[in-house]
Amino acid sequence: MDQKEEQLLIDLTSARGIAGNEDEVREVFKAYAKDFADDIFFDGLGSVVAKHGAGGGPKVFISGHMDEVGFMVTKITEKGFLEFQTIGGWWNQVMLSQQVEIKTMDGEIIHGVIGSKPPHVLSPEARKKPYEIKDMFIDIGASSEEEAKEWGIRPGDMVTPYTEYKRMNKTKFLLAKAWDNRVGTAVALRVLENLSKREHHNVLFAGSDVQEEVGLRGARTSTHLVNPDVAFALDTGTAGDTPGMTPKEADSVLGKGPQILIYDASMIPHKRLLNFVIKVAEELEIPFQYTVIAGGGTDAGQMHLTRDGVPSLAITVPVRYLHSHNTIIHEDDYLNTVRLVTEVVARLDNDALASLRDY
Ligand SMILES: [Zn+2]
Repeated sequence: MDQKEEQLLIDLTSARGIAGNEDEVREVFKAYAKDFADDIFFDGLGSVVAKHGAGGGPKVFISGHMDEVGFMVTKITEKGFLEFQTIGGWWNQVMLSQQVEIKTMDGEIIHGVIGSKPPHVLSPEARKKPYEIKDMFIDIGASSEEEAKEWGIRPGDMVTPYTEYKRMNKTKFLLAKAWDNRVGTAVALRVLENLSKREHHNVLFAGSDVQEEVGLRGARTSTHLVNPDVAFALDTGTAGDTPGMTPKEADSVLGKGPQILIYDASMIPHKRLLNFVIKVAEELEIPFQYTVIAGGGTDAGQMHLTRDGVPSLAITVPVRYLHSHNTIIHEDDYLNTVRLVTEVVARLDNDALASLRDY
């Protein structure tokens, strides 16, 4: 990966954006897409779509999602601490003592930490138990409610994990917050770039949805707007290659390729589309891993149910420590996902579409 390619990943993971607050991510998307798109447009909730291709062929929609898991300020206490609501799926064990950023209405960034008790005051029983989310708070170094208000903090402000992007010890393992789902967003942008430089007999709509982490909401509106013939959700999936994970829970290995979701809680993939993608991967010898995520869904869960039904599939990049401050991907998985999706979209012409949709 060259400097420019890596910078896109840094820009996307550094941007702050919980569900309903995706502005920073959308700006990164627009700035990158403008050189390759014929047109960039939005649904009413803020999902972004970049179009390329003159028409005549199938409408192919590929989309990541912009929002990351985070929190929302609900209340400032008298002493100047912040109470919060989780936005997206959090596990209490990965939250305590983590640094966060609060973005105020005026765009100021306030640094904070999710407070915790020191072990010194805990009984042996208390140390064994996870701390409940409802008892957690954010410490911003303010001494009173008035001071926090002077800094511009209000209920409703977005709170995002704070983690700096790092290439781990000169390897291909990349650490950042929000790989879920800035990496899918990056894939959409890179496929747009690739196909803008290459002949393709279809119209590509490369996008990124709002509000996936709270129930696939943006995909519902964006897919209605695009009205595609075929759709792909580009997202992240669980890795199973760390100590304690069992193959039953997840068996993907970082570096072994993109994941093709054969089952998740939101969708049965379109069988002919699934076979089409597998054939492309095998023909070009692009590595991939079959994946099942029984306890989660992707935007494809909404895409495939849009209007009169859209053949859909989710292609994901395996991630370690999903939905935490510190998530890890492997560079090769990202690049191979870009390659696979580029080659699949390039082959989706009228004949291919007929083979998918003539029942
Ligand atoms: Zn997620």
